[in-house]
Amino acid sequence: MGTFSRPIIVLSRCLEMEACRWNGDVIRSTVVRELEPYVDYITTCPEVAIGLGVPRDPIRAAWNGDMLHLIQPATGRDVTEEMTQYATDFLDSLGAVDGFLLKSRSPSCGVKDVKYYHSAEAKAMVKEKGSGFFGGEVWERYSHKAIEDEGRLLNFTIREHFFTRIFTMARCRQLRQHGSMKDLVQFQAENKYLLMAYNQQYQRILGRITANPERLPWDEVVAAYEKNLGEALAEPPRFTANINVLQHCMGYFSDQLSRSEKGFFLDSLEQYREGKIPLSVPVHILRGYAVRFEEEYLLQQTYFQPYPAELVSITDSGKGRDR
Ligand code: SF4
Repeated sequence: MGTFSRPIIVLSRCLEMEACRWNGDVIRSTVVRELEPYVDYITTCPEVAIGLGVPRDPIRAAWNGDMLHLIQPATGRDVTEEMTQYATDFLDSLGAVDGFLLKSRSPSCGVKDVKYYHSAEAKAMVKEKGSGFFGGEVWERYSHKAIEDEGRLLNFTIREHFFTRIFTMARCRQLRQHGSMKDLVQFQAENKYLLMAYNQQYQRILGRITANPERLPWDEVVAAYEKNLGEALAEPPRFTANINVLQHCMGYFSDQLSRSEKGFFLDSLEQYREGKIPLSVPVHILRGYAVRFEEEYLLQQTYFQPYPAELVSITDSGKGRDR
């Protein structure tokens, strides 16, 4: 392990890149800055792109009968059509992409937590929440890709999952563009423990695709592999699945470690089980053992470093573990 393919990420431009919010603000996001040296961002501000200036009166998603509209209450302007058209045009022209990092709660970019108002009236109450007009179209087309907002990425479990997905999918995309059957076999082998943790059913499906018993052409094989890999990584691994893999890997060293070293590792596993520390902590300890005992097979496993080490951070919003 060592070099990582650069994920291509579509980013809401107001996240660190430009002061294009309705009130002229830029949103600070540590994760956007930390990722910047390792990814290629494609930025967009859909509201500026459809001609709403900066600053501008805010817009909101509001019901009009049974149709959801994008309205600027202060002016009465309805920009539903422009925004829908922009989302269609932007995504139609988008090339290969590995993930999306969008602004939370925005009626344009938001993915899931956007307020839908009862009506366009300035004082209307919130009826429910859903996706924004651009974020919703992203979700419709790319549900098999990593799509997150900056707010959710404050949680270390969600962040680990997002990073793992984008770097794994970027490597698979490189493989599709420049690789061979031999490279695919190696990719599958190096992701053995990662896939074991994520989804053992998909691990078997991917193994069958790699074996290619029907001698299908490369393009077909790698396309099927990429699609199924995206599905395999859709949900973060359950913490019990990670513990399983970690214990399994610990078996490589159990005869070589002292009682206190084993105790130290088992303590960290327990803290991980209780959600007090992120996965990266016990993984890092095991990786240290793999280096010390020159366990080459484990050192090649992406599970031990699915994304650049510089991105490992244990800061957390305190919201705890989802799974
Ligand atoms: S949330 Fe989206 S539309 Fe709103 S300012 Fe940010 S990039 Fe622009």
